[in-house]
Amino acid sequence: MRGPDEILREVFGHAGFRGRQREIVEHVLAGGSGLVLMPTGGGKSLCFQVPALCRPGLAVVVSPLIALMEDQVAALRQQGVAAAALHSELEEAERRAVWRGVFEGSLKLLYVSPERLTMEGMLERLAERPLALFAVDEAHCISQWGHHFRPEYRALTRLAESFPGVPRLALTATADARTVQDIRAQLGLLDAPVFRSSFDRPNIHLAAAPREQERAQLRAFLREGWEGRGAGIVYCGTRARTEQTADWLRAEGHDSMAFHAGMEPAAKREAHRRFARGDAVIMCATIAFGMGIDRPDVRFVAHLSLPQGPEGWYQEIGRAGRDGAPARALLLYGAGDIALARHRIEESPAGEEQKRIERARLEAMVGIAEAATCRRRVLLRCFGEDLAQDCGNCDICRQPPRLSDATEAAQKLLSAAVRTGGRFGLLHLIDVLRGRLTEKVAQHGHDRLPTFGVGADLPEGVWRGVARQLVSLGALDMRVENHGELVATEAARPFLRGEKRLLLREAAFAPRSARPPAQRREAPHDDPAFAALRDWRKTEARAQAVPAYVIFHDATLAEIAARRPASLEELRLVPGVGESKLERYGEAVLAVLRAA
Ligand code: ADP
Ligand code: ZN
Repeated sequence: MRGPDEILREVFGHAGFRGRQREIVEHVLAGGSGLVLMPTGGGKSLCFQVPALCRPGLAVVVSPLIALMEDQVAALRQQGVAAAALHSELEEAERRAVWRGVFEGSLKLLYVSPERLTMEGMLERLAERPLALFAVDEAHCISQWGHHFRPEYRALTRLAESFPGVPRLALTATADARTVQDIRAQLGLLDAPVFRSSFDRPNIHLAAAPREQERAQLRAFLREGWEGRGAGIVYCGTRARTEQTADWLRAEGHDSMAFHAGMEPAAKREAHRRFARGDAVIMCATIAFGMGIDRPDVRFVAHLSLPQGPEGWYQEIGRAGRDGAPARALLLYGAGDIALARHRIEESPAGEEQKRIERARLEAMVGIAEAATCRRRVLLRCFGEDLAQDCGNCDICRQPPRLSDATEAAQKLLSAAVRTGGRFGLLHLIDVLRGRLTEKVAQHGHDRLPTFGVGADLPEGVWRGVARQLVSLGALDMRVENHGELVATEAARPFLRGEKRLLLREAAFAPRSARPPAQRREAPHDDPAFAALRDWRKTEARAQAVPAYVIFHDATLAEIAARRPASLEELRLVPGVGESKLERYGEAVLAVLRAA
């Protein structure tokens, strides 16, 4: 049997382990169980794939989605590993072939869904075989506290009793303390170590801005941060918005598709397939899109409304930049989003405990969106991590917002809300403050209020900013389910009495390009060798009906183009080129380079 370093090099083509991978691999090789917390793109798969190939017997990998299993299996087969997936969409003959592999001992990794694994008789059949390990991927699905609870995962609690001698490795990108504790309890890992990695993804540029002109902001974001290569995801709050945004992006000249849970299964599969195939496509989706997306060259993720909490948001933006190249995340949100989310929590039938958790999540998310200091530090603090210094790769670090004292404006707005009886929305209050005698103002006699016209010196945009800050601080409540009436709350008092000051952050993201350019790796796309390699990969991927990146990642092709290896020996040294790929594609790659 080969050791972990050889497997890593020869099978996966990587020069060394990353972060805590080695420690985890060695722990499992010694027969240990544990929980791995690593951000999306951190390299969780190798933590069980390498031990699976080092230990005798079959490794069983539990995975929640067929698309996810199939991609991993396709990638492993490319690397020359005997892997298969067992799921409900297999033909009878395929299913039999998989079982033959299990019983002959030729199969090394078996991917299964949780419902399949715990089906009648399945565990008994597996128990007849030597098992290398169980890996439970996306392990947060087992927890009700997680944001993707899947009841089928609950049956996995049996693994600990039924297979006490087989290592169990649970893996997730969710680091929320409650969920972590729940996973450990459910999977019998309370005595096993937790391997927690840094959740920082320094190559993802973070930005957030109030949603003022959504389309202009999105257009500016695309112009500034996307070169039309790789993919992008735009998360929309509703199904209808996914369709509208995709239509609009197509009209703007981008290839764009919609994805949401209400679509036909065939349409969903087609969307996944097109995304996986490596097209330069922008997916406009609800958060139903994402699990199992491991395309490495997603260049941006944008959100058009406020996510429910930092874990979900981080997992969604973590789909960008898995290849380590620069990527961008943009969050657009409004005061209405915050108020709506608060009301939803209060009105939900959930228990008080659950509500408390959801409130805390939401407030943490608001804190990130409204941050006036390094956004990444605020974000990582939600996961219990303290960055030693500002990141230099977020909107705030790049262009620190100017803060101005807006206490007086806050008092005026709050008093306008109070004096009009909390029965009017922002537009009307702005009219009152700016002294505009509209029909509605006249009708209600609001031109006779002392606040009428006291805010004429400030433009409407500033008033919106003041209102958003006050909503996010809880001093104003917005009745979103009615007409967005603004109501001053108990928390408004310290502002009205002058005991608390309001610092207003100027808009951090304006649609303009006066900002310093993003640090960028030397762009390889002018290189004819890189283009030729991509063309070759496209043909090869189509012929084998696999996603392009399972053949070679962009990063690997770029490296090959840069190094121009002249022999198989030289090609072998390029990171990302393992033995199996060298054997399969080495000659073809060299031929493409010679011709380019
Ligand atoms: P996760 O499942 O944690 O989201 P993956 O296992 O899909 O992440 O790995 C993310 C990317 O990082 C993949 O493209 C993988 O090939 C790469 N990767 C993982 N470990 C290493 C390593 N030790 N060296 C180089 N690349 C790695
Ligand atoms: Zn920063």
